[in-house]
Amino acid sequence: MIKFHSGENVPLEMHKVRMVQRVYLLPVEERARRIETAGYNTFLLQNKDIFLDMLTDSGVNAMSENQYASMLQADDSYAGSETYYRLESVLNDMFGMEHFLPAHQGRACEHILAKLLVKPESVAVMNYHFTTASAHITAMGGLVEEIIIDEGLHINSDLPFKGNMDIGKLKEAIARLGKDKISFIRMEAGTNLIGGQPVSMENMRQASEVCREAGIPLIFDASLLSDNLYFIKVREPEFKDVDVIDITREIGSLMDVIYFSARKLGAARGGGILTSNHEMFLQIREMIPLYEGFLTYGGMSVREMEAMSIGLRESLDMDIINQTPIFVEVLCNELIKKGIPVVTPPGGLGCHVDARAFCKHLEADQYPAGALASALYLAAGVRGMERGTLSEQRNPDGSEAVANMELVRLAFPKRVFTLSQVKYVADRLTWLYENREMIGGLEFEDEPKVLRFFFGRLKPIGNWPELLMKKFRKDFGDSL
Ligand SMILES: *Cc1c(COP(=O)(O)O)cnc(C)c1O
Repeated sequence: MIKFHSGENVPLEMHKVRMVQRVYLLPVEERARRIETAGYNTFLLQNKDIFLDMLTDSGVNAMSENQYASMLQADDSYAGSETYYRLESVLNDMFGMEHFLPAHQGRACEHILAKLLVKPESVAVMNYHFTTASAHITAMGGLVEEIIIDEGLHINSDLPFKGNMDIGKLKEAIARLGKDKISFIRMEAGTNLIGGQPVSMENMRQASEVCREAGIPLIFDASLLSDNLYFIKVREPEFKDVDVIDITREIGSLMDVIYFSARKLGAARGGGILTSNHEMFLQIREMIPLYEGFLTYGGMSVREMEAMSIGLRESLDMDIINQTPIFVEVLCNELIKKGIPVVTPPGGLGCHVDARAFCKHLEADQYPAGALASALYLAAGVRGMERGTLSEQRNPDGSEAVANMELVRLAFPKRVFTLSQVKYVADRLTWLYENREMIGGLEFEDEPKVLRFFFGRLKPIGNWPELLMKKFRKDFGDSL
């Protein structure tokens, strides 16, 4: 943020745009047709029909000139690529961990770790689950137990680290389940599903101590680490003047395994697993060629590995990693001013709108967040992501597993949007909030059994999208 003469604090972009992509804003009538065609599931919209894509930051972050330049120097060989060794050395330096094993993306790491450590009926204990992490654990017959601090599930709070594990609950879980019943403890940076809320270094230190004493592996999902690093710097006083690389090295010293999606961390594509545990390294190493690819590429293209090396280095630069959290904060504050319910404090990854409070009149099984995400596309051409009940798997008896939080996430791909675009989103959401009673529910037309949010198709209960479209046209005249 920079202070203007007017006294206003403005998020000044610390980059300039040198390549652009044309985007289109379709008329509202057309948007109504496209969301219907997409089965009221924003995952099924086509990118050409979207004005601002705030679905995710995964694989869609703006890359730097140095990342693009590095791609031309990629050493294309199946085995022993120089590109791989460069990446390995960046990661070893960043986390101080001895071994790196490449994988094609974050969930591939989750697959391998679940195969290695999860036994039927074993429990993976974690601050909070992530969709693909739980899916791999349950696919191996394991169970997931969450031990987030209570406040982590409160929509509004001023706690700086709402992603923290409850260390008391961790100790209690270990005492109750016993070491042998626990497959691993998983700590997720920037907890994705509860509003991109960070974990503190203090919490990592405590969790590490408990896990080491109990002899249980502590696994760190570093996919959303870059925002979390920013929050450690600005919200944890001890780290105010500490170099970011010293923070990542300390994290490396506390964890047994670190894995990440480079679609997020490193602003490229790909992923990988780090460990200093030699035995575990040998076991994981056996699986990489089987599921991912040879050990010096693991399913990634060499160009992506080069871009990742540079992107990881750049994620140690505060002027780069502060861009997303600052823009999230600006959008959240704009919405709060209009009385629109959002998760606070603003976290990383995106602005999270509380759909349960926004659409108070809808029942949990009418998927309020799914409905709000559809309504927002209709009203603005903006694509957000449902992160609520629709994103959960049904209970074994077929009943709905109502999510703790019912959110629409408006993600900020790193360094992609401008301030006027952010203001546009705030404006259209404000209009929607004023007309919130018009938003109706959704029901499934076609419901997949696994990860249903990705490609399930829904339909509106009643003809609310049509009425909302007409109201939009009435209020905005012939403006898009
Ligand atoms: C995206 C994400 C993953 C999965 O990574 P992919 O590269 O999409 O497979 C795992 N954990 C977290 C926290 C994520 O945000």
